[in-house]
Amino acid sequence: MQRDALGLYARLGVTPDATPAEIKAAYRRLAKAAHPDSGRRGDDGRRFRELTEAYEILGDAVRRRDYDKALEKPLTGLLAAASRDAREPIRCGACRKTTIEPRYLRFQRVWSIAMFCGRRPVEGIWCASCARTAALGASLSSGLLGWWGLPGALWTLAEVARNAAGGTADAAAGEKLLWHNVGAFVGRGNLPVAAALAARLATAEDARIRGDAIEMLSALREQGVGRSIAMARLDAPWGFSAVSALAHFGAAAVAPWVVIVSWAVTRG
Ligand SMILES: [Zn+2]
Repeated sequence: MQRDALGLYARLGVTPDATPAEIKAAYRRLAKAAHPDSGRRGDDGRRFRELTEAYEILGDAVRRRDYDKALEKPLTGLLAAASRDAREPIRCGACRKTTIEPRYLRFQRVWSIAMFCGRRPVEGIWCASCARTAALGASLSSGLLGWWGLPGALWTLAEVARNAAGGTADAAAGEKLLWHNVGAFVGRGNLPVAAALAARLATAEDARIRGDAIEMLSALREQGVGRSIAMARLDAPWGFSAVSALAHFGAAAVAPWVVIVSWAVTRG
């Protein structure tokens, strides 16, 4: 059996110790969403076929045993070491879900009173979806509190633009998070995801992480996990969206009117 088939568990998003019921449930859930008739466009049913192919093997006790046997080639060297001190993957600081590509981000909330204004950061380790929520919250807060003075208004515009563009990323911390996850996913036996993350870190700024990532990539390649397999396994949840940018400026523009109108109403 080809080492490339390593990814069958990853395709179904389960670990090699999943029960038959878990495998079946995962297949049903994913196949339903990927079915060519489900309205999803673009891949001509390729993902559905991949899922079905994985389930035909993992869903059959005999074929699964053969498959597992073929995978029993032990991890060696770097991979064995990473697997030994296996860690839990990073969890999002807000939703607590295991996050393949967490980021350490900072967004700014601007406040102002006449000529006084300031910025209060909100920062954390987030998944893409929670980061978007935190960013929008910071822009809304700036819209409510930031406009009341000239410097505050200028800061509000600048910070809302920055929040909309994804905030300020702590690149060094981000590289450490991803490197942690490389080890964690090797430990979980999810080598394709580990390889995808290591490929990202092959251009890391931190020289030590960069070197370790390149070494890890070649160890993974020897294990049969090529970069092309790996990259196909990652979504790109961090993409910039013009709609979300509009939402930021919309929120920041509407928020002061809420303050003005409620002030007018309470004054009678
Ligand atoms: Zn989250």
